[in-house]
Amino acid sequence: MSDNFNTGVVNHWCPGCGGFGSLQALKDTLKKLQIKSENLAIVYGIGCSGNMNTQIKAYIYHTLHGRTIPTAIGIKLANPKLTVIAIGGDGDMLGEGLGHLPHAARYNHNITAIILNNQVYGLTTGQSSPTTPRGAKTITDPEGVIAEPLEPVAISLASGASHVSRSFSGDSLHLSKTLESAIAHPGFSLVEILQPCVSYNKINTFIWFRQRIKPITQTPKNIATAITLSAWTDNTIHIGEFIKQQRPVFLGKLVKTDSTNSYASLLLNFSRPV
Ligand code: SF4
Repeated sequence: MSDNFNTGVVNHWCPGCGGFGSLQALKDTLKKLQIKSENLAIVYGIGCSGNMNTQIKAYIYHTLHGRTIPTAIGIKLANPKLTVIAIGGDGDMLGEGLGHLPHAARYNHNITAIILNNQVYGLTTGQSSPTTPRGAKTITDPEGVIAEPLEPVAISLASGASHVSRSFSGDSLHLSKTLESAIAHPGFSLVEILQPCVSYNKINTFIWFRQRIKPITQTPKNIATAITLSAWTDNTIHIGEFIKQQRPVFLGKLVKTDSTNSYASLLLNFSRPV
């Protein structure tokens, strides 16, 4: 496999979709980290985000709706030498798949989960998602959404994730830097990418985000500060690293508990050579 990650497959996203910025930033980051295609596994969920599965050359698994994180964990356990990334949308990871996120975070599984958050179900033409703002009118909520939106950064922080960040698909430099730190991090990392859907979300546009996003100048030292900083206000949405801590990763914890007969030893022995 080559290391430019290009597949040559035609991309069918809508012209102007925020996904293009996320895709390019991710490929640039993988090159910068000198990760080889044959050492990379990416798991995609269902949705427009899942249609990125044809765009990056690597070991690809287009899994069931909401099951990107457990599939990615399984791959990492089977072959710890791989860099493993789970990519899903806000519907996939925070609707159908929400139950997996806090547990991956608290066990500190050594994978990166990327949520492409466009605040709507884009692939199925614009239904409300778990992150659609309260009051927004969609085809499923013509009178306006009555529920509060979920906040993936706060959920991950509260679940004990060791690396949590947010970026914007319209800021390639910030996004590449954010992804680089997250993918290189030993342990569970969560990246929320604010990614406009130009076809079905006419509120949270590129211009709307550019008027509100504000980079964090310093990574918070504690969870309480990080959660406070992560909250959206009418005028400000912070982007950057909310927490970055070194903690024992899942397999490392198991290896330390037993020398030869541990579950981790079994997993490592069963792992296929890369
Ligand atoms: Fe992108 Fe929205 Fe089009 Fe999907 S529907 S490809 S998220 S612009």
